Amino acid sequence: AQKQPGNSAVVYTDDLLVRERDRLQLEARLSQALERGELELFYQPQCTLSDRRLTGFEALLRWCSPDGLIPPDQFIPLAEESGLIVPIGRWVLQQACRQAQAWQVAGYGQPVVAVNISPRQLQHPSFMAMVRDVLQSTGVDPSSLELEITESAVMDDAEGTIATLSALRDLGLQLAIDDFGTGYSNLAYLRRFPIHRLKIDRSFVRDLGRDASAAAIVRGLIQLAHSLQLSVVAEGVEEPTQEACLRDWGCELMQGFGFARPMPEPDATMFLRARPPV
Ligand code: C2E
Ligand code: CA
Ligand code: CA
Ligand code: CA
Repeated sequence: AQKQPGNSAVVYTDDLLVRERDRLQLEARLSQALERGELELFYQPQCTLSDRRLTGFEALLRWCSPDGLIPPDQFIPLAEESGLIVPIGRWVLQQACRQAQAWQVAGYGQPVVAVNISPRQLQHPSFMAMVRDVLQSTGVDPSSLELEITESAVMDDAEGTIATLSALRDLGLQLAIDDFGTGYSNLAYLRRFPIHRLKIDRSFVRDLGRDASAAAIVRGLIQLAHSLQLSVVAEGVEEPTQEACLRDWGCELMQGFGFARPMPEPDATMFLRARPPV
């Protein structure tokens, strides 16, 4: 709302109150969602670009509220502001690890399950203890778990992040920087992060083939990753032309509607059974 002559000051206040009230209501409902079993993980397949072999899945959170499915963009920010992301994030990690372990025990190979970690979670004092605890209680092979950390989160507190990431890598986990290209990476730090992969943000992939500068950026990001001995995942790959460009430029992995959409666990299990992972 912006200031305008007349009685718009009243409208401004009303707007703000309504939004604040809605936010508090949503927050109250979200805090109950976990105990009521309304949260669910969907799994989106990832594959190699060279021959489209399945490598694993990204776990994506869904809130199946009584009023319908609420997409993560609408509740993750709220969960971060309120701190609810800490118990929710723990549940996500536990669920993803249980699933990875269940797939392996069932003899479906060892797909890598990637889990999103929010900045607030990563900075929480008991984060490392929580991860160790979940690994131990689920018995999952750490190498089949990948953590995705956004570029902005790692750059916020680069020195602190290096220590945490090193400890995570020492546990045998895979580490990826998510939404790469959208933040302002300090390249000197990037070199020091003990990570395995960069995930190129969907916004760049989307404009491939439409916009020459997007192509230049994607090529540049792939070259940068390779020069740092990192592999690259492109997200949001929808069209065969995007896929062809990425393959030509040596990008290793892809994820997007062009290969498969996020799906509930039973569908992901069927998908996996039909395509033994690399
Ligand atoms: P993200 O980590 O960048 O996840 C990728 C998003 O892109 C997912 O949206 C996925 O459904 C969507 N996507 C994948 N391929 C395509 C494609 O080809 N075309 C289009 N148009 N979209 C595609 P989703 O599931 O709605 O998740 C949105 C964001 O919510 C995620 O972005 C992530 O930042 C956050 N999120 C989801 N689950 C979790 C979670 O468990 N924890 C945390 N902290 N954040 C999560
Ligand atoms: Ca992600
Ligand atoms: Ca991403
Ligand atoms: Ca993204």
